Amino acid sequence: MEGALAISGAGINIRGMSKSFVESLQAYARLAVHVGVNLQKGQRLMVRAPIEAAPLVREITACAYDAGAPLVSVLYHDDQLSLARFQHAPKDSFETFPEWQADALLACAKRGDAFITVSGTDPDLLGGQNPDDVAAAMRSGQKHMAPFMAYPMSDRVAWCVISMPIPAWAAKVFPGMSAEESQLKLWDRIFTTCRVDQADPVQAWKEHIANLQLRSRYLNERRFHTLHYRGPGTDLRLGLPAGHIWKSAESVSTSGITFVPNMPTEEVFTLGDRNRADGVVKSSKPLNYGGTLIDDFSITFSGGKAVQVTAKKGEATLRKLIETDEGSARIGEIALVPHSSPISKSGLLFYNTLFDENASCHLALGKAYRFTLEGGKEMDDVTFANAGGNNSLVHVDFMIGCPGMDIDGLNEHDRPEPIMRNGEWVILT
Ligand code: ZN
Ligand code: ZN
Repeated sequence: MEGALAISGAGINIRGMSKSFVESLQAYARLAVHVGVNLQKGQRLMVRAPIEAAPLVREITACAYDAGAPLVSVLYHDDQLSLARFQHAPKDSFETFPEWQADALLACAKRGDAFITVSGTDPDLLGGQNPDDVAAAMRSGQKHMAPFMAYPMSDRVAWCVISMPIPAWAAKVFPGMSAEESQLKLWDRIFTTCRVDQADPVQAWKEHIANLQLRSRYLNERRFHTLHYRGPGTDLRLGLPAGHIWKSAESVSTSGITFVPNMPTEEVFTLGDRNRADGVVKSSKPLNYGGTLIDDFSITFSGGKAVQVTAKKGEATLRKLIETDEGSARIGEIALVPHSSPISKSGLLFYNTLFDENASCHLALGKAYRFTLEGGKEMDDVTFANAGGNNSLVHVDFMIGCPGMDIDGLNEHDRPEPIMRNGEWVILT
């Protein structure tokens, strides 16, 4: 709790920033409420956050009430309670899930509430626990949460994921510093990558969103049939289904609210054809999956399905992830991020998908976002699958971008057109 104490006092200054820390925290909260979920007058807000995020959540709450929210609800969680479960709970109990949580979130989604998630966990929290127990708990959680998750996954509600440095995470990113120093440093990086340090953060976001939209619009006009990735340890062809839609930054909810689901965001993304992935892809950053680190891994695909995996670290967890269900062995998301993105340029490994995925081209195993396929939101599971869309309990992003990565877009006659060279955009430059 030292972190919460360190950030709750007014007047702490972060090096190189003119605004006080508290002002930055308030600006960050405003971004989450006004740009992130774009909260509407009369709309309720549900916040999910680690207990260490309390000072930030209080700012978000105040801002949401100022914006006219009739009610802000908060669900806090605590890494140490998750750990205690794996250390002390009966071995046969890991399928047990607090149904009331899933029911409450589903009720909020049905009412059209907005959802802010503050992500922040210890990347090594469950590294020493039995992978079978961790997988059982995760699978049960995913199963119980599936009816709720269908809402954000198909943009039926406005939602936004932001982050904050909890002590264990900050220590992992900046080892060898005091707890307070590493957290302030990580705050500084989060504020920079989320443009909180700009004179007018809301305006800065508008310009950033417009830039990303230029590329997604261009890719949508090209209607590529296949992408071909080549780089160190990677030679992969990924099919794009007919009707795929490249998206970036902004989404629109069913009720017409424009929102930004991820802050930061640097990606332009779509879905892959569940039956057309062939070749091998090598990871370029470690993957934190449910508290276990998977590192230095390769996945070989054939006919869309992962048929072989190797990992220097966390191979058992990677296998468990891929074996979750039929769709977890297939690609649900394809995302392009230039190697020169601000997050990549920071040179840091964040051990947090929200940041690391925005530093690097990535793919996701599992569920595809319905809104990345024309008519996808209205399709049932079978129709979506027949159109090439993948379905699964999981959606796990893993990073593959690197300075040596070349990506071509191919039309149906296999005629290539360069999209990226050496990890950088070669379109619209
Ligand atoms: Zn992504
Ligand atoms: Zn993703």
